[in-house]
Amino acid sequence: LVRLRARLARSQGTLGKGLLAVLGRASLDDAAWEEIEDTLLAADVGVGPTDELVEQLKTRMRVEGIKDPNHARTVLREELIALIGPSNDRSLKSTGADGKPGVVLVVGVNGTGKTTTVGRLARVLVAEDKSVVLGAADTFRAAAAEQLQTWGERVGVNTVRGPEGGDPASVGFDAVQKGIADGVDVVLVDTAGRLHTKAGLMDELGKVKRVIEKQAPVTEVLLVIDATTGQNGMTQARVFGEVVEVTGIVLTKLDGTAKGGIVIAVQRELGVPVKFVGLGEGVDDLAPFDPEDFVDALLE
Ligand code: GDP
Repeated sequence: LVRLRARLARSQGTLGKGLLAVLGRASLDDAAWEEIEDTLLAADVGVGPTDELVEQLKTRMRVEGIKDPNHARTVLREELIALIGPSNDRSLKSTGADGKPGVVLVVGVNGTGKTTTVGRLARVLVAEDKSVVLGAADTFRAAAAEQLQTWGERVGVNTVRGPEGGDPASVGFDAVQKGIADGVDVVLVDTAGRLHTKAGLMDELGKVKRVIEKQAPVTEVLLVIDATTGQNGMTQARVFGEVVEVTGIVLTKLDGTAKGGIVIAVQRELGVPVKFVGLGEGVDDLAPFDPEDFVDALLE
């Protein structure tokens, strides 16, 4: 975790430094506040949250008569944490009921890091002594099932696959059936992310979920978003949010962008919390998202 924090700080440091440099000035005139706004917008924080943060900062700097840069830093830290939502429940909902496994659906556009996320989540769960089965319901992308199975072998869990080009919903069904038969704790289901048409996506994802729920309730739907895609990622988030009830966000590739403000924008857009962040391609590079750690890394 320390290593992850250091990596995050390296990629995100410019945002924090930029804000602190301006806030530390002797007088904060309109130009200074504009600079703060520009810095936040450039980091993909989004217009609404930027306005909100700037208003809060302006008020507090004035009311509290803040002159000392350290004090300004404390205020900025507090307000960023407040904006991200420190009290959101960010735990993975993976506990089943009635002796059945919890079922976690992982959705998102191809290339965002879905399969990698499923593999790394399996590793996290296994490390917590939970038994896991993987479902390779991304039957569209030729290499996806293979890739998932490789992850499964690495982590030491079984992967349920179907024929290439087969019905994703039936793979989901089979995976949950195996999970129940084997008495495992969690079934993690990888899905296809073809954004060809919204109706097509809705049909496919909706069906996967419905068919799975003939056997056990889906306890979590995680939407994977690539942090480097900015507005594009936001558009995807909106579409997925409309077709399936997303309960948590995984923001991957935060190591590849200095625009960490997307964390704020994306959860504002969907109204659900970021639960995990990806900070590299390695097996251990998925971290639970912690607002305080994140802000500390920004301001390091
Ligand atoms: P999928 O098509 O959504 O299943 O995406 P994959 O899981 O195949 O991932 C696509 C690419 O993104 C792979 O090369 C991954 O190694 C890479 N990737 C996934 N997560 C991260 C991350 O957090 N950071 C970085 N740098 N690369 C990532």
